[in-house]
Amino acid sequence: MNLKKYKHAITAVCVLGSLAVAGIAGKDFYDFRHYEEVIIPGEGVTSTFQLSDYNENLKGTFGDTTVYVMEGEKEGGSFLVLGGTHPNEPSGHMAAITMIESGKVEAGTVYVIPRTDNSAFTHNDAQEASPHFFHIETESGTREFVFGSRASNPIDQWPDPDVYTHQSGQTLSGSEMRNINRTYPGVKDGTLTEQISYAITNMITTLDIDMEMDLHEASPEYPTVNATVAHERAMDMASMGILELQMAGVDMSLEPSPVTLRGLTHRELGDHTNTLALLMETGNPSQGRLHGATSEELIIDGKDKFYEKAAELGYLYIPYDENGASLDMRIGRHLQGCVEYMKAFSDMYGAEKGEIIMTGIPSYEDLTSGGKTIGDYLN
Ligand SMILES: [Zn+2]
Repeated sequence: MNLKKYKHAITAVCVLGSLAVAGIAGKDFYDFRHYEEVIIPGEGVTSTFQLSDYNENLKGTFGDTTVYVMEGEKEGGSFLVLGGTHPNEPSGHMAAITMIESGKVEAGTVYVIPRTDNSAFTHNDAQEASPHFFHIETESGTREFVFGSRASNPIDQWPDPDVYTHQSGQTLSGSEMRNINRTYPGVKDGTLTEQISYAITNMITTLDIDMEMDLHEASPEYPTVNATVAHERAMDMASMGILELQMAGVDMSLEPSPVTLRGLTHRELGDHTNTLALLMETGNPSQGRLHGATSEELIIDGKDKFYEKAAELGYLYIPYDENGASLDMRIGRHLQGCVEYMKAFSDMYGAEKGEIIMTGIPSYEDLTSGGKTIGDYLN
C-alpha cells in the first residue's frame, strides 16, 4: 500500500468512527428527548386536559403537558400542585405523581401538573454526569422515572442572551431565561418557557384557583431548605400549616416571599392572580456541590459520605447523618405539607370557599417509619 492509499484508509476509519459515535450519542439524545415516564392515574383522577388549553401557542410543542383534575364529590375550594418545575428535583415530581396515582379528593378540586416544565424533562444538565433515569419497585413492576434538567432544553429555546431581563426589569444571567421559575407571570407569545408560565398564570386566573403549591428541592448547603416560602397573602394560612406540620414530626421553616425577587411562583402568582401562592423545598443531596458521583443510589437513598462530613462541620441546613436524606422521606415531607396546607386552607376559608380534602396519599410517618416505601403507593 502506498502512502497516499494508507492516508485515505486512515481518514475513512476516522470518519466512520466519528459517525458511529455521533450516531450512538444522537440516538441516546433523541430517545431521552422523546421519553415520557408512564403515569397510571388512580380512581381519584376525574379528568385531564392539556396546559395548551390556556395558551394555544404551546400546542404541539415540548412545552405542552397534561394537567390531572381530581374533583371531589363535595364542592369546595381549589388547589393547584406544580411538580417538576425543576426536573432535577425528583421529590416534587414524584409527590405530584403519587397524588395522581393514590390520592382521592373528598372535597374541592385539586389540579396536579407533574411535568410543569416538560421541556426540561427532555435533557440533562451538561457536565453533571447525572443519570437519565431512576427506578422504583411497584406492584406493577419496576418503573422508570426521568431525572431531567433545571432548565428548558436549549433545542426548544436558543440561544440564551448574555443577560436575561425579566418583564419587571430584573436582570439575571442569560441561562436563567430557561428556568421557568424566573419567568412568571409569563408572556403569551414569548420564549417557550415564558409561554408555559403564562399558561399556568392564565389557568389559575381562568379557573379561579384558590391555592397553589410549587414543589422543589435544593442542595443541603443552600439556606432555603426544609422550608415553605409564602406570598404575603398566604402567610397567615402557612403559619397555621407549619404548626400542624411540627405536630406531624416535620420540621419546617416559613419564609416570606422576597418582594424584590421577581419571576418566581410565590411572588408573581400571588401578585398577578388571586391564588394563595406557596412553595416548598426539601434537601436533595444529589443536587448540591459537595457530593460524590451522581448515581441513581444517591438520588434514591440520599446517602453520601462527603455530605456526612459537611454535616459534621456544620455546613448543611438539613439534619444529616449516615442514614442520608432519602427520596421517600423527601416525598413524605411534600405530601404531608400539601395535606396540612389543605387543612389550613379549609380552616381559614372553608366557610367562604369550601374545604379542600385529599385522602389516600402517604403521610410523612408512613414513608419514614420503615414499613412502606413510595412504591407501595404507586400503581
Ligand atoms: Zn427548584
